[in-house]
Amino acid sequence: MSAALERMADFDLTEEQRQIRAFVKEFAEKEILPHVEEYERQAKYPLDLIAKLGPLGLMGPMIPEEYGGSFSDVMSYGLICEELARIDWVVASAVSVANSLAASSIINFGTEEQKQRWLPGIASGETLCSALLTEPGGGTDLGNLKTSAKKVKGGYELTGTKVFISHAAYAGLFFCVASVDLAKKHKGVTAFLIDPKTTEGMTISDFPMRTLKRDNLAEVHMENAFVPDEALLGKEGGGFPILGAALDTGRFSVAARCVGQAQRCIDLAAPYAMEREAFGQKIGEFQMIQQKIADMVNRTEAARLLVYRLGRMKDAGVGRCSLESSLAKLNASQAAVANALDGMQVFGGYSCTEEYEIGRLLLEAKSLEFGEGTSELHNRLIAEFALGIRKQ
Ligand SMILES: Cc1cc2nc3c(=O)[nH]c(=O)nc-3n(C[C@H](O)[C@H](O)[C@H](O)COP(=O)(O)OP(=O)(O)OC[C@H]3O[C@@H](n4cnc5c(N)ncnc54)[C@H](O)[C@@H]3O)c2cc1C
Repeated sequence: MSAALERMADFDLTEEQRQIRAFVKEFAEKEILPHVEEYERQAKYPLDLIAKLGPLGLMGPMIPEEYGGSFSDVMSYGLICEELARIDWVVASAVSVANSLAASSIINFGTEEQKQRWLPGIASGETLCSALLTEPGGGTDLGNLKTSAKKVKGGYELTGTKVFISHAAYAGLFFCVASVDLAKKHKGVTAFLIDPKTTEGMTISDFPMRTLKRDNLAEVHMENAFVPDEALLGKEGGGFPILGAALDTGRFSVAARCVGQAQRCIDLAAPYAMEREAFGQKIGEFQMIQQKIADMVNRTEAARLLVYRLGRMKDAGVGRCSLESSLAKLNASQAAVANALDGMQVFGGYSCTEEYEIGRLLLEAKSLEFGEGTSELHNRLIAEFALGIRKQ
């Protein structure tokens, strides 16, 4: 990153936040970056790389110190997600699923027993987390899920299938939503904290992907899988507000990750443009290439401002920031995709070769346009706020 861009990006951050950012940036570049391409080719889950995060306090940035975490503020969490995602989607995803979806839900809605049981392990990195939300029938309309939770003596029996599940084969905690009454739609949705290692009736199998092979995405099938009463998070039928709060934080961390990915495209394309020559000059001296670089910087900085504003709102104590979350997530994910496309154009044919990272970033960025609400969903929410159809 050039000195000018660095100054611009750091505007308004506290000294502590700047230090966190610089620390994570250096760590990710030194410890993670050298392995990412190789792991992708081998379809190898980066368990050993993720293991390096716990001792540094990077697995629990949203978890309070009393539960073993390193929470300082929401902004810092965003910076950690941004810098990790600039280098590796999967490592950043492990942090964001664990903190935004699992840990935050436990902190906001869990009993003291659930906090003591789960949070220290998540913060230390011993317990990786998965979010079991998406089903074969769809991931956008979560009020219409089909996985059922039947009350039985001492607990619940869960039956249904979840797809696209990141980290599943390595996770020690599944944050899962199922319905106690399918007819009630979103009012039947119930959240559970499941220990996959001790749950019978649960099968985790490969969910083959064209990209992100190092994430080993999974399909999780549950057939009368018994979970004890202690696995219930919140109340029966109270899962939809838990999901709403989790996705609100999730949108912040995913948006921060998208800013990191968008920045990575600039970091790769700008030096290449000033190195590669055509017609006797650097391609970066051609106006049409300069336009692409300028567009990439414009998008990234605009998205970054939306993400940082959201972080500051959360730190200021604004509970739900649905409109601002949608604005940040939509713009940042679209910036990441557009930057990957422009970046590839700067690299020409070499963007499709194994030698250069830029081509890999396109499908990874695109996948972030689906998770934590698709662009269509966010556009719909933004329009509903503007039209007065939605207030919160
Ligand atoms: C790499 C990767 C990792 C993932 N990891 C996880 C994970 O760990 N856990 C998990 O639970 N899920 C995960 N997902 C799944 C992801 O959350 C879903 O793909 C996403 O929620 C969208 O669901 P869907 O793919 O079923 O699309 P659908 O819900 O079927 O939607 C298809 C299309 O229809 C559009 N659409 C739907 N409703 C409307 C509407 N009302 N108006 C306009 N358009 C609409 C959508 O925007 C989309 O364009 C992952 C996905 C990917 C690609």
